[in-house]
Amino acid sequence: MIIGLNGGVRIDLHTHTLVSDGTDTPTQLVRKAAEAGLGAIALTDHDTFDGLREAKLAGAEAGVEVLAGMEFSTQTGGASVHLLAYGCDPHNEPLLDELAKVRVGRSDRVPTMVAKLTELGMPLTVADVVAHAPGTSLGRPHIADAMVAKGYVAHRDEAFRLWLHEGSAAYVDRYSTELTHAIELVHRANGVAVLAHPWGRGRRRDLPESFLTELVNEHHLDGLEVDHPDHDADTRADLRAVAERLGVLVTGSSDHHGLGKRNNPLGAGLTHPDVFDEIVRRIGERGGRS
Ligand code: AMP
Ligand code: FE
Ligand code: FE
Ligand code: ZN
Repeated sequence: MIIGLNGGVRIDLHTHTLVSDGTDTPTQLVRKAAEAGLGAIALTDHDTFDGLREAKLAGAEAGVEVLAGMEFSTQTGGASVHLLAYGCDPHNEPLLDELAKVRVGRSDRVPTMVAKLTELGMPLTVADVVAHAPGTSLGRPHIADAMVAKGYVAHRDEAFRLWLHEGSAAYVDRYSTELTHAIELVHRANGVAVLAHPWGRGRRRDLPESFLTELVNEHHLDGLEVDHPDHDADTRADLRAVAERLGVLVTGSSDHHGLGKRNNPLGAGLTHPDVFDEIVRRIGERGGRS
């Protein structure tokens, strides 16, 4: 365990590798976490558990505790919502079936999106996109990478801002799991469910306190990710107050994507060690393995 300046272990509970849309291998990510002075991380690739074994092995070598995680693509009323899942049984069949459906939803729209981009004067093929996706989960970030490689945009952010965001010219809708069903699937797989960056990127409108209350009281949501780079200081303060009123766990993270996001260096957000311990305790209580 690596001790931070404040005497506590530095813990970052939301990171990605090239198994989804980060740019590091799981081994590289864990080594970078050790170099960044983190004592524990959660690997939370989009809609897959595939990087976890490698990350755990690397963690044992590098002296970084690796919590098994996953970031579930869900929706409520058509608005995209990300759900962090910790400690799920990676062999749970209902969950694996649903994740496969979600990944097909992500990848199925790629041909339509590249056709739209081609019509918009940015010729692109599915093969160009696949060339940028060495892992399990293929999605818009890889379309963005292919656009960068062709010189159409300078970086992923620009691709999303100009062409790929929800409602933009090249955007195509896709399947993702209904949020309350996703929470239930995570719990049935012995996992702990935490809403990722709930009020980032204009999501405050879709997830008002009344709805968060319902998610906690009726669907037993475990926590809210508060200290995330997409939340400014006021948003964090407001969301922390909501979490306190609801009595749920408060987590923090970087949402590191390697070179794929520029505002998210490892350790950019941290989770208190007591919260980490409580997540591990709940996973154990539910019969899972962290
Ligand atoms: P998809 O699941 O295919 O809809 O892609 C969503 C992913 O794109 C999210 O998980 C983010 O990691 C990434 N993303 C969304 N907006 C941006 C952005 N502005 N810049 C870089 N990556 C983004
Ligand atoms: Fe991502
Ligand atoms: Fe996310
Ligand atoms: Zn993420």
